[in-house]
Amino acid sequence: MSDRLIEPGARFGDPSVGAGPVRPRRPGGVDWTSSDSRDALHLIAEGVTEVAGFGVAAISVARDDGYMQVMAVAGSDDARRTLEGARTPIAELMEEVAKADDWGLLKFVPHERLDLDEGSWGWVPDYEPLDVPDAWHPLDLLVAPLRDADGVLRGSLSIDLPRDGRRPDAAQRRLLELYAAQAGRAVVTALEREALAEQVRLAEAARTIVRRASAKLSLEQVLAESREALVEGFRAAGLWIQTLHEGGQGAIHTASSARISPSRDLMALGDRVARQTWEAQATLSVDVHADEAAPLLTSEDWALLRQLLESLGAGSLLATPLGAGPACLGLLVLTRRPHAPEWSDVEKGAALDIGHDLGHAILNARLFEREHRARVELQALDTYKSQLIATVSHELKNPLAAILGHLEMLEGVENLDRRTLTSLAAIDRGAHRLARVVDDLLLLSKVGDPDNPVIATPVDLRRTIEDVLDLVGVQAQRKRITVRLETDGDDLHAAGDPGELDRVCANLLSNAVKYTPEGRGVLVRLARQDDLVVLTCTDEGIGISAEDQKGLFTEFFRSSNPEAVAQPGTGLGLAIVSRIVSRHGGRIEVESALGAGSTFRVFLPAAA
Ligand code: ADP
Repeated sequence: MSDRLIEPGARFGDPSVGAGPVRPRRPGGVDWTSSDSRDALHLIAEGVTEVAGFGVAAISVARDDGYMQVMAVAGSDDARRTLEGARTPIAELMEEVAKADDWGLLKFVPHERLDLDEGSWGWVPDYEPLDVPDAWHPLDLLVAPLRDADGVLRGSLSIDLPRDGRRPDAAQRRLLELYAAQAGRAVVTALEREALAEQVRLAEAARTIVRRASAKLSLEQVLAESREALVEGFRAAGLWIQTLHEGGQGAIHTASSARISPSRDLMALGDRVARQTWEAQATLSVDVHADEAAPLLTSEDWALLRQLLESLGAGSLLATPLGAGPACLGLLVLTRRPHAPEWSDVEKGAALDIGHDLGHAILNARLFEREHRARVELQALDTYKSQLIATVSHELKNPLAAILGHLEMLEGVENLDRRTLTSLAAIDRGAHRLARVVDDLLLLSKVGDPDNPVIATPVDLRRTIEDVLDLVGVQAQRKRITVRLETDGDDLHAAGDPGELDRVCANLLSNAVKYTPEGRGVLVRLARQDDLVVLTCTDEGIGISAEDQKGLFTEFFRSSNPEAVAQPGTGLGLAIVSRIVSRHGGRIEVESALGAGSTFRVFLPAAA
């Protein structure tokens, strides 16, 4: 029996029985995952020892790597410790079985027929055979190869050390055959259960990876990250995804360099299969050797798929619909090599779950793609707007200069009548206002041009504000508004363009004065805050509603507040300020409420 599995020097617990020949243990083999399977095999082995009367019984299973592995041992603890998990090459066992007497399911090889090299088997002869013709010899081999319904070897039952010291008689053999048949069924069940557990484990692992990858932004990325897990988890040879498009042809996505370019007919078939299987929440498996078409397929579809499988060198495929909610979004196709196992129900179930995960991935990818496109379109629109502003303001510049020049010339003309003088004054006001708008537009496009970076120098902001106050002061005095400047610290230099920073201060201060009713106050503060210079301009003016604050820094924005609209303005000032501040690497904040005054705060990088 399993003498061939016993390690050197090993002894069974019973001193009357000796250890068998040695076979080194080999590593590897899959852990026995189900304790139910192990228990069932143990019970059978115990039946052999206790009921049939043998010292040791061991049940082994055939592994894919060509070894028999002992999974259940009954007999002494020593025997169990020694034998459990031990592995023997199947070929060697079968070589010995070939010399056996055929006892039906059992095969018996008398020790005289065994060709054993004593040195390598390490025999410890402490078992004395009886002195009778049918005495059991320690090297006798009694084994039942266990085969499945297709005759494939799936395991073996090895029996050793009969309690009566004799080779089994006819009655004992019949009993042992019953145990062998039972062991055969149990081994097949156990192996199937083990294979199922392995499939579940692999498919689950694949699903976890797909789910994690589903957050990626493109389907190609999702596939690239989960391809290996899918191929391994599903024992697949290859895979691709066909996405569906409303009214369109859809597209094929692969994660490998392999290009699949299916015909229009195949794409249409993929589309149809995806929708039908999503509706039914089922997969579709197709085997190149199947005699008839799978359900859902016509004979033409079948021919088309068979052709596809043959051209790919594949034996079968599993098509799984991808979708989210009611929407079917695509089809995942996994292929297997010829003669690979059939697609199991466990795998089909796992594939359906993955179909939902990949469905969400497709939705994500589409959403991202749509957002990306919208962003690109908005950018293009923005560029177009900037170009339009730049072009129009340039085009206006020359004729305006001509108008202003001629107006200046007319200033010196004497004897103009009253009506003409009134008209000229109106033209002059209008032309100057237009010139301001054009200047603002030109500045707006200049400070919004990424090809025109800031050339920074230290700018003394205190000086800048004092200069601005000289100009704004006139308007403030007219409205009896007190403007105070408070500074904190000596080094209040910002790094930037002096002209642009002058515009920032001028716009903020003139707005404060413009939007503050007569007799109230404006406070300007300058301070250092680490590497920043902070300019704060607080007024006691009309304030800005929370809603209006949202659009404050966009071009041409004017508050909805009628008190603000009553003041002259273009809505370009704060847009210019915000662009200048941000191209200087700074930021601007506003704090205000309708009727409660406003505070604008500008943070600029301090000069080194
Ligand atoms: P303009 O003053 O030429 O209209 P701005 O871009 O400077 O353009 O300002 C945009 C809008 O923001 C103004 O129309 C005004 O309604 C509001 N605003 C700006 N500064 C203040 C302020 N200090 N107090 C109240 N409203 C203000």
